[in-house]
Amino acid sequence: MQFLADFLDQVKAGNLYRQPVVYQPIGPTHIRQEGRTYLLLASNNYLGLTHQPAVRQAAVEAIRLFGTGAGGARLTTGTHPLFKELELELAKFKETEAALVFNTGYMANVGVISALAGPDDVIFSDELNHASIIDGCRLARARVAVYRHADMNHLSELLTSTACSGKRLIITDGVFSMDGDIAPLDQIVTLAESYDAIVIVDDAHATGVIGAGGKGTADYFGLKNRVQVQIGTLSKALGAEGGFVAGSRQLIDYIINKARSFIFSTALSPATIAAALAALRELTARPELAGMLRENADYVRTMLRQAGLPVFDGITPIIPVMAGEAKRAVRLTAELKEQGIIITAIKPPTVPPGTSRLRLTVTAAHDRSELADAVTKIATAAKRLTLV
Ligand code: PMP
Repeated sequence: MQFLADFLDQVKAGNLYRQPVVYQPIGPTHIRQEGRTYLLLASNNYLGLTHQPAVRQAAVEAIRLFGTGAGGARLTTGTHPLFKELELELAKFKETEAALVFNTGYMANVGVISALAGPDDVIFSDELNHASIIDGCRLARARVAVYRHADMNHLSELLTSTACSGKRLIITDGVFSMDGDIAPLDQIVTLAESYDAIVIVDDAHATGVIGAGGKGTADYFGLKNRVQVQIGTLSKALGAEGGFVAGSRQLIDYIINKARSFIFSTALSPATIAAALAALRELTARPELAGMLRENADYVRTMLRQAGLPVFDGITPIIPVMAGEAKRAVRLTAELKEQGIIITAIKPPTVPPGTSRLRLTVTAAHDRSELADAVTKIATAAKRLTLV
């Protein structure tokens, strides 16, 4: 099978070859590898809830009560009691009538988009939307009109110029996963209302992060009840695993009966659902967590900028430091690892060629002095590699 070797050679030649690396987590902000401890500035565990005692305890207790696996799909025998509690509390948190848990955020996007849109419909999609949104659009077999990133004039033009015999849907990340910026959801909703379009927002990186107490992008813009479909993940700020969709009871009923990634996959395990539920309760009981995250993000952004590094403006915990060529981003992350810091290099095809970057993420659990020390090391390494 020569094509396997050809592909791998091509990936290696472009410095884009990847393999999963084993990290041993020893807390929300540190990992161990080959006997050495590293500071982690590369996790989406934004509130550090993976290691919160109540969250861990809930998972252990769920295994004791219900065993390790769900043993069936949601519509057969897999809906164990914790699902109902989690879905009720997610709906309450999102201030919607109902919510539905999927196995991953990826599966939520793919399932919801392909359930809502079909060949007669047009999906208007931001060019920087996550891969799972792109795949959902493909599965829907709808026409896709891609608008330039966060460009409302372009979206408006496309809404006017694209013929559509069926439904119009506009879909966007709430917080963009690679740039960390926030979609102009208020303007998107206004445009959607004038074109009778359905709005879908993917709050994977917004849940627990922006809006009052981390309620997400619709809350951040005060758009109560004006965003019909809110998607999220349980795998980032909520410290567990899984995805969800929140909206009207009718929407959820429709998705239950139509979304293939919901129907045809075994339900998540009791431990996972219990952890997500405990994490959501922690977030609801401590709405200040999202504020602590914001303060740490602001602190690092300001320090990086003062050190002269090319950092985007923003308020979210995703802080890209631009490096340009993939090779440079890789060298910089390798050098930082030598110094005890793990930061991910983001390269094509995840981002366009020439825009490789260090994708630095902070959490509410990071210690300020460790963050300050890390910024100094990043700045020194970047200067050595002529990044600034
Ligand atoms: N949407 C966005 C914007 C994401 O960044 C991700 C995860 N990288 C997902 C969806 C998928 O979520 P999950 O990891 O839970 O599958």
